[in-house]
Amino acid sequence: MSDLKVAVAGAGGRMGGANIRAIAATPGLVLQSAFDRSGAPVIGRDAGELSGLDALGVAITDNLDAALAGAEVIIDFTAPANSVLLAREAARRGLVHIVGTTGCSEADEAAIAEAAADGARIVKAGNFSLGVNLLLGLVRQAAAALPGFDIEILEMHHNKKVDAPSGTALMLGEAAARGRNVDLGTHSVRVRDGHTGPRQAGTIGFATLRGGNVIGEHKVILAGPSERIELNHIADNRALFAEGAVRAALWARDQRPGLYSMADVLGFN
Ligand code: NAD
Repeated sequence: MSDLKVAVAGAGGRMGGANIRAIAATPGLVLQSAFDRSGAPVIGRDAGELSGLDALGVAITDNLDAALAGAEVIIDFTAPANSVLLAREAARRGLVHIVGTTGCSEADEAAIAEAAADGARIVKAGNFSLGVNLLLGLVRQAAAALPGFDIEILEMHHNKKVDAPSGTALMLGEAAARGRNVDLGTHSVRVRDGHTGPRQAGTIGFATLRGGNVIGEHKVILAGPSERIELNHIADNRALFAEGAVRAALWARDQRPGLYSMADVLGFN
């Protein structure tokens, strides 16, 4: 089988660099193009050199058409509006679209699902790591087994992160809500401030910390009357997410158009 030709969106970003390194390190994939938003300071730079590798002969472009010409896959960890646009392009061109972008609104999610129904093969995950996807199953199980326990989800990320709670925290919340058979939207407490009154039973609370260079830490706390369970995940390196994205790209190549999760890729469903 020929090498899978990958276009990396947001090539100048933290995850863009990790994705370029993962593609270069993975047999069966080749970096077809790398692009970023127009005006980004990285336009024209060699994608390999910018990512700490030898030159790859791929200059980062802001020309979307040129970047997608000949590509079979887009790996996209950028921003919600751009991910919606790329999902539509993936549908139009019959591409695989790996979406790591977080902070999407309901309307963004609906537009991405529509693109998948229109012919794109999309894998979208708030977290591409093996460990977090395993943790989702554990959280669902624990939430179901301990119906009277209070569930709180705590996350910490670096000081450049722009959305909160993290996509992973929301996925963990969804898993807990599924375990309890409730709707997360009507059962979550995203902010507490001032005189809040006592905790309402059955809610799922979120707390967000931001600081320094933290790649991603999540803790799900199940607090009962006289004991507490804490399920933790710590990401040590962004390469983790990029390796998951590359794995998803190779998996999606053989799938029908549709919207998939990382649990589908890992066979956890
Ligand atoms: P970053 O700010 O370092 O990089 C984002 C890049 O996208 C930048 O280079 C920016 O210029 C580029 N970009 C923005 N708009 C664009 C456009 N219209 N066209 C092309 N490029 C565009 O951010 P980051 O830390 O790399 O994170 C990016 C996203 O990935 C965030 O939403 C973050 O939460 C998410 N993320 C997801 C996972 C996961 O496993 N799903 C892991 C880490 C980060």
